[in-house]
Amino acid sequence: MTQKSDTLIIGGGAIGLCTAYYLAERGLSVTLVERDEIGSACSDKNAGLIAPSHIIPLAAPGIVAHGVKWMFKRKSPFYIKPRLSLDLLSWVWQFMRACSESRMRKSVPVLYELLQTSHALFEQLDKAGVIAGCGLSKKGLLMLYKNRKTFETERREAELAREIGLQVNELQPHEIENLETGISTSAVGGVYYEQDAHLQPEAFIMGLRTALEQRGVILLTGVEVTGFEFANGQISSALTPDAKFTADEFVLAGGAWSPDIVRGLGLRLPVQAGKGYSVTVENPKQKPNIPAILVEARLAVTPFSDSLRFAGTMELAGLDPAISRRRVHAMLDAISDYYPNFDTSGLQSAEVWSGLRPCTPDGLPFIGRFKKFSNLVAATGHAMLGISLAPVTGRLVADILTRSTPGCDLSPLRVDRFN
Ligand SMILES: Cc1cc2nc3c(=O)[nH]c(=O)nc-3n(C[C@H](O)[C@H](O)[C@H](O)COP(=O)(O)OP(=O)(O)OC[C@H]3O[C@@H](n4cnc5c(N)ncnc54)[C@H](O)[C@@H]3O)c2cc1C
Repeated sequence: MTQKSDTLIIGGGAIGLCTAYYLAERGLSVTLVERDEIGSACSDKNAGLIAPSHIIPLAAPGIVAHGVKWMFKRKSPFYIKPRLSLDLLSWVWQFMRACSESRMRKSVPVLYELLQTSHALFEQLDKAGVIAGCGLSKKGLLMLYKNRKTFETERREAELAREIGLQVNELQPHEIENLETGISTSAVGGVYYEQDAHLQPEAFIMGLRTALEQRGVILLTGVEVTGFEFANGQISSALTPDAKFTADEFVLAGGAWSPDIVRGLGLRLPVQAGKGYSVTVENPKQKPNIPAILVEARLAVTPFSDSLRFAGTMELAGLDPAISRRRVHAMLDAISDYYPNFDTSGLQSAEVWSGLRPCTPDGLPFIGRFKKFSNLVAATGHAMLGISLAPVTGRLVADILTRSTPGCDLSPLRVDRFN
């Protein structure tokens, strides 16, 4: 069986769905194939933070030293599973090179522009009723510190954010108490990013799905792309076990699996899976009003209308989604350090989830055409910012495919920048 559309999108996570949305808005016929269920991978139970504050990429000065220290701590929020993999070695090498002050400073304005644009697009999607049921809420983000030394050093980040134009307030403990009235904290200091927002990621995916169905996008689940037909630098079709999908343009939005999807095309995409966990407590007795990041523990805390979600850890362990109970417990142990009155009894029966973040070596996504195949566009590598950046990525891919002037500079996001 052969199916034809203007564009075929591979992957039904936040990135694939937002891309489908903006393409459909421009009148293109779109088919999206997802090998599992829509939004069932990393875009599912993540922290749901829309974080214009996250202008510092994962690859930043000091992170390598931290990483090495964490590697030897059984309860640390970061881990690389030792294995003989050329892809991993080359990724780590590229990552280390990207951790210089100058590379980081070049990435900051790129992320800032992408995040600001995406933030505005979230507001538009909300106004248009596309994501009305996902509880988009603009309460900001509180970075909470337990250790005065970290607070002092991390204030540099706040300074950088302020320089670039973000609304940032440094808070003393009594000011945190005035702001966060839902639960008391024992933080010694905080930084408040006013512009940040949050939403319920599962509802966000549902909202997008409905909007796509209403716009005639064909969403096919349980359909795995296993190969391609191509000639003369053009892909003619994507192959699945039961069908062939022909299209003029193909979009790679396969998240952490993206390198595997295009390996057969002779393309090497430096994306490593960064596994993280979330734990969702239903109807907790007490919860914060404002999303927070418990900085030393690298733990995000997101309040939803009737639940509270904790999310964290970064494990480079390949594509294995297995949950390490030890790391999840270590992650949860930190909660009482920051919220001494939080009733932790609900954590025992809480749902634990794992997700694989698609991580590039420099912390910037890949958005653009492949040199070797001019009708294949990458939309992946969003690491910790895939929800925050989904709308802008979708719109940029639509700009590329409709040959419109892109709304942001695409050159730092080139897919061949590590070749
Ligand atoms: C613990 C945790 C917390 C997070 N918190 C936040 C946050 O607060 N804010 C934020 O912005 N980001 C957050 N993120 C990151 C964010 O979740 C990801 O960046 C984002 O979900 C990636 O979306 P995606 O569409 O690229 O990938 P995915 O959601 O993983 O989607 C890729 C899809 O491709 C499909 N696929 C793979 N191979 C094939 C194939 N061969 N054929 C067809 N389909 C295929 C997969 O089944 C999958 O559904 C968090 C991540 C984690 C793990």
